[in-house]
Amino acid sequence: MKRTSLIGQLGQAQQQQTVTLQGWVSRRRDLGGLIFLELRDRSGTVQVQVEPDSPAFAEADRLRAEYVAEIEGTFQPRPESQRKGGLADFEVIASRVKVLNAAKTPPFELDKGESVAEDIRLKYRYLDLRRGEMQRALMLRSKAVTAVTEFLDAEGFLQVETPMLTKSTPEGARDFLVPSRLNPGEFYALPQSPQLFKQLLMIAGFDRYYQLARCFRDEDLRADRQPDFTQLDMEMSFVEQDDVLEVQERLLVHVFRRVLDVELPLPFPRMSYFDAMDRYGSDKPDLRFDSAFTDVTGLFRGGEFAAFASAPSVKVLVAPELTRKQIDELERVAKQNGAGGLAWLRRDGEGFTGGISKFVGGIAPQLIEQTGVAPGGTLLFAAGEWKKAVTALGAVRLALRDLFDLAAGGPQFHVSWVVDFPQLEFDEDSQSWTYMHHPFTAPHPDDVALFGTERQGEMRAQAYDLVMNGFEIGGGSVRIHDPEVQAKMFQAIGFSEEAAREKFGFFLDALEYGTPPHGGIAWGFDRLLMLMSGAGSIREVIAFPKNNRGADLMAQAPSPVEDAQLAEVGVQVRGE
Ligand code: ASP
Repeated sequence: MKRTSLIGQLGQAQQQQTVTLQGWVSRRRDLGGLIFLELRDRSGTVQVQVEPDSPAFAEADRLRAEYVAEIEGTFQPRPESQRKGGLADFEVIASRVKVLNAAKTPPFELDKGESVAEDIRLKYRYLDLRRGEMQRALMLRSKAVTAVTEFLDAEGFLQVETPMLTKSTPEGARDFLVPSRLNPGEFYALPQSPQLFKQLLMIAGFDRYYQLARCFRDEDLRADRQPDFTQLDMEMSFVEQDDVLEVQERLLVHVFRRVLDVELPLPFPRMSYFDAMDRYGSDKPDLRFDSAFTDVTGLFRGGEFAAFASAPSVKVLVAPELTRKQIDELERVAKQNGAGGLAWLRRDGEGFTGGISKFVGGIAPQLIEQTGVAPGGTLLFAAGEWKKAVTALGAVRLALRDLFDLAAGGPQFHVSWVVDFPQLEFDEDSQSWTYMHHPFTAPHPDDVALFGTERQGEMRAQAYDLVMNGFEIGGGSVRIHDPEVQAKMFQAIGFSEEAAREKFGFFLDALEYGTPPHGGIAWGFDRLLMLMSGAGSIREVIAFPKNNRGADLMAQAPSPVEDAQLAEVGVQVRGE
């Protein structure tokens, strides 16, 4: 028998009709000889009633939770007193029931899914995915893919797939390596991104490219990271930075409109990397609330408080009234993020008490005026080298957000651009300059001359990040298309010509065969979906994710392999 429709498609129009439905039994209750079932498919759930004298009764009596069943019956309104709106206003009076398959008792109750340990959910992911929440998340994901595809196709972007077994791409993470059986002792790297290939596609003349690309990065995992993840990867030729940003804005607006029916306001505000760090202590500031820092370096310079008197940077953040316990907790956050401590003051009338108050008597009026702290409010300070101070205070700002739910007063989604990233960054560990985005990012045209000078740290890159609610949801850049500039970039990051040739010789060759100006971006697609669905982790929007130790608990990967298989690929596992 064929089903007549999905459950969620039933409504007024099917009233009093005979319907045939197929799905899973969510629940079964026996009430005074009657059997009540809840039958579920991916589109919805409906109540089914089986009367004791029904020919369907004996078969219905066999049904248990998660059995697969086919039910034929009359679709009709429920008694007035039991209506709750939507499908719950109707029920099916069964005339025929067929058990299509039995099920073992599930290891957890599906409708209590959220409270079940995540490891159990991941081990039985196929059951976890039956839950409404997970079904909705994956449907949202599919809708977002459709929205992206329809927009980019209409804008002339071409979908091209790039290889999975390839060479290392420098995106700042470790590679996953795959041994080659046909070339013993040699390895492929899984792509950290399709960066070089998409640039080659521009050199090849495809003009506009996109791909929902699986990428692989061997990093420590967090709630918003997975070892294999999906990027929406894009590249455009004959463009400048503004052209890329403009298309991206319209794309994101389209996706939100189609998937969530939410209108994102355009244009997205732009903030320089310096301002983002200086005011919010983050290159991906959560701007659903303000709480920007005030710079009070000058106010403390040469003053009574020795720790601040000669500090290169003193920043202050205004907080509501805090208990000692809360201040201690925030100080712990500051220290974890590189600060020596967290100095504080509580406003009391026209002066301050607590913390460092005995050192600030003289400048109290200016501190009140410059920070706008209200009576009872708290000032939290970080001092020291600029980047260290703002980074630590940035972490405190986010801890305050969580403590006082500060983001709740803002828009549900706040999107902005962070632009003008530095081209180069000094790496303290190796005591050398390195790239900030990746080595193919073009410097700002006005700053190219700074390569190799002592001011090269001030160079701005034509790089941009798309930021939503404190997460980087995309990042990209205009690329270097001039081989000479590319050579200068490698030189600046201490890459000898031989090293560069060995790693990306094919790409450097290609650059010399008529490379168009080009630029692009990639979105962290999982991360965007996490935010769109309001989930707390990207694992909630990925069908089969790894846990935070990088393991697939269902398939049991990674796992040891047979010696014979290792021998075939010429690999020997070293004992500890
Ligand atoms: N390949 C870059 C990344 O994965 C994105 C880009 O520059 O387009 O972050």
